[in-house]
Amino acid sequence: MRAADIADQLTTVLVTEEQIHEKLDELARRVEVDYAGKDLLLVGVLKGAVMVMADFARALRRDVTIDWMAVSSYGAGTKSSGVVQIRKDLDTDLHGKHVLIVEDIIDSGLTLSWLLENFASRGAESIEILALLRKPEAAKVEIDSRYVGFDIPTDFVVGYGLDYNERYRNLRDVAVLAPHVYS
Ligand code: IMP
Ligand code: MG
Repeated sequence: MRAADIADQLTTVLVTEEQIHEKLDELARRVEVDYAGKDLLLVGVLKGAVMVMADFARALRRDVTIDWMAVSSYGAGTKSSGVVQIRKDLDTDLHGKHVLIVEDIIDSGLTLSWLLENFASRGAESIEILALLRKPEAAKVEIDSRYVGFDIPTDFVVGYGLDYNERYRNLRDVAVLAPHVYS
């Protein structure tokens, strides 16, 4: 669905599907150059990164391997709890691997700083982050994200994989959820 299909549940469209695809192509060209001659493992963070992974991986004009990790830091609300839990671990041994973590959004940065530490302890050769979206709060923790799609305001957003109580992941655009939906 597009934002127009559920306009009554959204306030502002921040990024359209077309803008997302254009940006992912741009990031794919950079990644191709940066990882030339190296094997590359993309690690997607479930469930939010599913759409980013699907489109970004296919935008790449090279072969990669893909793995998934499921963590939870939010529970059912709209605020980060700060507690990261592994719900599904990787199937891949990270030893000696060039890892690119694919994320939907960096908000507090808690999830990613935890993942970076966790992956480093498993012997990855290099670890970088690609995030479609980044909120200003992310500047407060030391998350060095090499590939960022769009900087957005602090509002709670949905779409393109991002959910509110598991809803709206299938929205093609990224939009601010109307407060009446969650209050
Ligand atoms: P963190 O605060 O950077 O740890 O964010 C962790 C996770 O919270 C992200 O990967 C998203 O899945 C989720 N999240 C953060 N901000 C939003 C939002 O605005 N809408 C929906 N999910 C979000
Ligand atoms: Mg996520």
